[in-house]
Amino acid sequence: MRGFIALLAVAACGDGGPAPPDAYIPAEPASNPGRGIDKTALSFDLTAMTGRATIDFEGSDAPGATLEVGDLVIDSVSVPFQADPATKTIALGLGAGDYGRQVQIEFHWKHHPGFEGATAAGYTFLWPYHCGNLFPCHSQPRDGMATTLALTNVPAGKTAVYSFGFPEAPSYQVAWAIDDYTELPLGTTTAGTQVSVWYRTNELATAQQGTANLVAAFDWFEKTIGPYRFGTKVGTVSVKWGPGAYGGMEHHPFWHVGSASLGDQETNVHEAAHGWFGDGIRIACWEDFVLSEGTTTYLAGRALDVVAPSVGAQVWQSFASELASIPATALVWPQSCNTVDIIKDDLFTNAPYVRGAFFYRAVALKVGAAKLDEALRAFYTGFGSKAARMTDMIAAIKSITGYDATTCADMWLTSTTKPAAETPCP
Ligand SMILES: [Zn+2]
Repeated sequence: MRGFIALLAVAACGDGGPAPPDAYIPAEPASNPGRGIDKTALSFDLTAMTGRATIDFEGSDAPGATLEVGDLVIDSVSVPFQADPATKTIALGLGAGDYGRQVQIEFHWKHHPGFEGATAAGYTFLWPYHCGNLFPCHSQPRDGMATTLALTNVPAGKTAVYSFGFPEAPSYQVAWAIDDYTELPLGTTTAGTQVSVWYRTNELATAQQGTANLVAAFDWFEKTIGPYRFGTKVGTVSVKWGPGAYGGMEHHPFWHVGSASLGDQETNVHEAAHGWFGDGIRIACWEDFVLSEGTTTYLAGRALDVVAPSVGAQVWQSFASELASIPATALVWPQSCNTVDIIKDDLFTNAPYVRGAFFYRAVALKVGAAKLDEALRAFYTGFGSKAARMTDMIAAIKSITGYDATTCADMWLTSTTKPAAETPCP
């Protein structure tokens, strides 16, 4: 929406009349991190390790734009630009206003071990702020973008599982996984979404075990929370993260699950739930991490409670043991916005996941789980494709259920006293 404001501003300055909106006047490079990205078209040559990003920026009252470029080697930029190696960014020459300005960037990218970009093992991992190691980007999830992705020169004999494109989402959602994959179709939801799992050699039984209730859970999310935003075909992709790397990553519509967790139903359903929270609704500040992870942790338990009650009961038991092992002082919901470094300041621990899940559980025990489902649906209807804060969630709960969860949120999300599992809201 910033673009519309900028156009109004252009129309308002009257001397000589405004330039046509599409006119391009070469501008000096200027830093402007506030100018958002509207959409990014990406193509990668996996053998040459080159890439091209065609980025459509939003309008801005100020000139310039800033992109994170990590350790990319920038080969060409279609507008004047200035690199700042200290901040690993480039500043671009865009005029003020200039709605819809498109910039094309050609670059070389590198492999990274672990979880900081594209790996030689065949998967990408950009969360939380490593997108710049793969393409010029904004890592802040507040700035969602639509994306298209094309891969060429996939290694012979391998399958690349990736989405050709999706609407407004955080930049860390962009991903590929390349391996010896076999697709197992699992079924289709009532809304018509096809659900599959892509497994690697010798993983069929594990893949079946982990996804036993995935179609039912996805169907429950679509019916209970709202329509899925990222396409009509979805599923789990088993990714060779390596021994000891558990969990998954919300690379919708084909979310990654580390091979070590492939057989775990909760992980598969949790990553699916991110299609609604974390991806479908982005977090406005890293401090709102609990709005992504606490909500999806709760929803995995809630969906399994409904579609496979015995599995759901086991999941809540395992959450309770995790809660018991969390230090009471671990950060869950810091009361600031983008001043916390999610990794260096230790916000990325189990605490936002598990205390977050038990916050929702406490609300459900107070107002009824079905009533809380209604609040989650209303929240998704209101904030889908936008960025939101945890305070917005508490407001939605109050608006739909009539219950003010502020004190309960203090108990579960900000207090350094840890309530016992299943303690309801007061
Ligand atoms: Zn998650």
